[in-house]
Amino acid sequence: MTRRILFVDQSGQLGGGELSLVDVAVHFSPESEVVLFEDGPFRTHLEAAGVRVQVLEAPRGLRNVRREGGGGLGLGAVPGVLALARRLARAARGYDLIAPNTQKALVVSALAGVLARKPVLWFLRDILSPEHFSRPIRQLVVTLCNKVVTRVIANSRASAEAFVLAGGNLRRVRVLHDGLDTAALLRQAGEGVPDLRASLGLTTEPLVGVFSRLSPWKGQHVLLRALTELPGVHALLVGDALFGEEAYAQELRRLTREWGLEDRVHFLGFRGDVPALMRSVDVVLHTSTAAEPLGRVILEGMLARRPVIATAAGGALEIVRDGESGLLVPPGEAPALAAAIRRVLDDRALAERLVARGLRRAQEGFGLASMLVRLQGEIDSIVAVE
Ligand code: UDP
Repeated sequence: MTRRILFVDQSGQLGGGELSLVDVAVHFSPESEVVLFEDGPFRTHLEAAGVRVQVLEAPRGLRNVRREGGGGLGLGAVPGVLALARRLARAARGYDLIAPNTQKALVVSALAGVLARKPVLWFLRDILSPEHFSRPIRQLVVTLCNKVVTRVIANSRASAEAFVLAGGNLRRVRVLHDGLDTAALLRQAGEGVPDLRASLGLTTEPLVGVFSRLSPWKGQHVLLRALTELPGVHALLVGDALFGEEAYAQELRRLTREWGLEDRVHFLGFRGDVPALMRSVDVVLHTSTAAEPLGRVILEGMLARRPVIATAAGGALEIVRDGESGLLVPPGEAPALAAAIRRVLDDRALAERLVARGLRRAQEGFGLASMLVRLQGEIDSIVAVE
C-alpha cells in the first residue's frame, strides 16, 4: 500500500546520509515529500530526482551546520526547536509517518510527532558514541527515541549497537544496511573521466584516492602522512568541508606543503561524479579514524571495480572481509595504510581478487531493491498499528 511519508533532514548539503535518502524518497514519491531545515545543493538534487521538497528554515541558533557533536542544541535553542516543531507538525498533516534522517531532524520530528499525533521512524546514520557526540546529546536522543519514536532504522549493526549502549531501547531498532542503486553506480563508474589523468599531468604514476568530505575524523591527514612513505604515489582528495570544518581543509593544505607533497596531492573539491572519478585511481581508500556508521564510499569503490582499503572499525567491518573483498587497516595508522597501499599496487593478482569479490559483495549485500522491500515492511507494520 502506498504510504505518505514526510522525510525530514537538517542539512542542505549532500552527505552520505542525504544521498541515501534520495533513493528512498524517490521510491516513495510522489505521495511523499522531504522537509529540509536549510536550503542548498541537497534540495536541487532531490528536485532533479523528482522529489517534492519544502524548506522550513531553522532558526539561527539551530542552524549550526555541524552534524557530529550536535552543536546548536543547547538550552537556548529550545524556543526555536519548539517553533520549528509546530511548523513541522502542520506540514505533517495528511502524512502517515514522519521520518527524520538526521539527529536535529529527529529532535524536531519527535516533538512534531507528538503534536501532530503521527508515528515517527528515525533513520539512524550516526554512531552515538562519546567520540562523536556529547553526553547530553546522546541522552536527549535516546530519551526521545525510547519515549516517542516508534521505530529506529539503523544503517549498520555498529550504529545499532552504539545506540543501545547509549541507553536506546533495543526493541525499537532494526538494522537495515543502506541499499545502493548498484546498476546506476556501475553505469556511472563505467563512464570514467577520460582526461583526468592528463589534466593532472599524470601518465603511468600510481594514483590512489579518498572520496569523502574533509573532516578530521575522515582521516585525510592519515593518507598525507602515508604518502610520505610512498614515493611516486599520487593521491586525489575529492570532497570539501561540508559541515563547518574549513580549518581542517586548510590544515590539510598546510601539511601538504610542509611534507613536500604539493606535486602529488590533487585537491579536487566536492564532485558530483565520484563513481567515474574512482575509475581513474588504482586504489579507493577509506581513511576514517573513528568508527564509521556505514561508509557508502567503500561500496561505491567496490561498484567502480576498484580495490578498496578501509579502516577496521564500525560499519566498514560489516562490508569488507579483510583480504577478500578489500583490505582493512587499523584506524589512524599511516604506516599500516602505506603498507596496504604498497601491497595492492605491487600485487596485481591480489588487486584483481579484491575487485571481483568486492563487486560481488556490494551487489549481493547492499542492493536498493531488497532494502526497500524490507523498509516498506517496517513502515507498513508501523502505520498499520497506529
Ligand atoms: N561524495 C560526493 N562528492 C564528493 C565527496 C563525497 O558526492 O566530493 C559522496 C560519496 O560518493 C558518498 C558520500 O558523499 O556517496 C559520503 O558518504 P559516506 O557514507 O562515505 O560518508 P558521510 O559523508 O555520510 O559521513
